[in-house]
Amino acid sequence: MLISTRDVNKKVTASEAIVKGISEDGGLFVMDKLPVISPEEITAMSKMNYIDRAVLVLSRLLPDFKEEDVRYCVENAYKGKFEDDDPAPLVKIDEGLYILELWHGPTNAFKDMALTMLPYLLKTAKKNLGIDEKTLILVATSGDTGKAALEGFKNVEGTDIVVFYPKDGVSDMQELQMVTTDGDNTHVIAIEGNFDDAQTAVKSIFNNSEYAKIIKEKGMHFSSANSINWGRLAPQVVYYFSAYADMLESGEIKLGDKVDFCVPCGNFGNILAGHYARLMGLPVRKFICASNINNILTDFFQNGEYDVNRHFYKTMSPSMDILISSNLERLLFEISGRNDKLVKERMEELKKRGVYKLTYQEKKELEKEFYANFADEDETADTINNFFMEYDYPLDPHTAVAVAVYSEYDAEEIVPTVIVSTASPYKFAADVVDSINGKLYDSAFKAAKALENLSALPMPESLKKLKNLPILHKTVCSKDRAFDAVLDAID
Ligand SMILES: *Cc1c(COP(=O)(O)O)cnc(C)c1O
Repeated sequence: MLISTRDVNKKVTASEAIVKGISEDGGLFVMDKLPVISPEEITAMSKMNYIDRAVLVLSRLLPDFKEEDVRYCVENAYKGKFEDDDPAPLVKIDEGLYILELWHGPTNAFKDMALTMLPYLLKTAKKNLGIDEKTLILVATSGDTGKAALEGFKNVEGTDIVVFYPKDGVSDMQELQMVTTDGDNTHVIAIEGNFDDAQTAVKSIFNNSEYAKIIKEKGMHFSSANSINWGRLAPQVVYYFSAYADMLESGEIKLGDKVDFCVPCGNFGNILAGHYARLMGLPVRKFICASNINNILTDFFQNGEYDVNRHFYKTMSPSMDILISSNLERLLFEISGRNDKLVKERMEELKKRGVYKLTYQEKKELEKEFYANFADEDETADTINNFFMEYDYPLDPHTAVAVAVYSEYDAEEIVPTVIVSTASPYKFAADVVDSINGKLYDSAFKAAKALENLSALPMPESLKKLKNLPILHKTVCSKDRAFDAVLDAID
């Protein structure tokens, strides 16, 4: 069963957690007892392909799902949708240094690892619960999530998806990716304003009971594809086991050897999935939490205080430009000894005053398990340049933040390290090329062409073909007309 981080007596099945998204008390769903993957199973995984590894791990994280249903979800998520049979290849860069490439999916960012599966998890969860209403997914996006959710839910029976993005707040490539999406259940709406306006528009729809009634009369209910959904977190646990299994299989490590993972963090969903893998038995020494100059997580790990009263910076790693990392609530729950009252108190503090503090004991505990630091814009650009010169490997700016933090990390003993890579450099080609040779391009496609000429990495087909696709979504609206736009879209 799953429980809420703010009320451990509130028990739901994984199916209910996926359909609800968030608990009514505002808490996030976590497993009442984390399952264990044994050393024998980790060894067995080294001989398996990614699909079988995912079925093994996910069957434990979705206890009320039948194994055949888990397989159905995994196969629909990964078969034929990624550039390669292995959706999460581990690339050896140097002795003891690996890059886990999570961006070979349909939208070239790591969000695909979970968002290709979420629609099938939701479909199965509804079947398990006997719900046959249509699900209307609403998403507010600052860039990567919107397209990944659109591709994931496209033409999935029993669902409709509406994505709101800030008209002038996403990159050209990201906008093109969204407005060219086909499928008969996909809708994309540009909101006049910034990401906050888009987010507010969606929240005000979710919080309006009148709107929920209107939608219900149409035989539908609202849901969200937000990164706090258990159905987004669970698929991400798999690739940590998979990377370790790959290292075992290639003889780089022996069973039980500890490794480090370095993760570029924003909402804290990716690294938290890794932490769960460790709690389930994966031999990990440290998780390195890398931030850009929006370094609230660095301060949290270093000082034991989470304080959102600070300046917000726009950077070249926009998916990490976040001040409130929602998934951190799940880590707080674990390190407080699963103290739901304390989590609730702290979340109320955060809402009221924008700050909460860890105990000395908790801070010490975290220091054993995590190392955190950040890289500024110059360090990130230098890292892209240096890494390219040394290894002929173009890093996207998010991954470059992780590499920059890792190279400053001064561990007493070196262990094999996996850099978790979250986006294709072609998604951010202008900044990547500028960092490598100082040339500026006014179009995303020209920059991508330049990157193709510089590096051995081909441009992903999915981005290449965008240039010739028709624009299918043209609606622009103000944030107070968002619900009318939803009604127009689904009629
Ligand atoms: C979403 C995202 C991140 C941050 O991941 P979290 O799970 O939110 O911490 C990092 N890099 C890229 C490219 C992303 O799209």
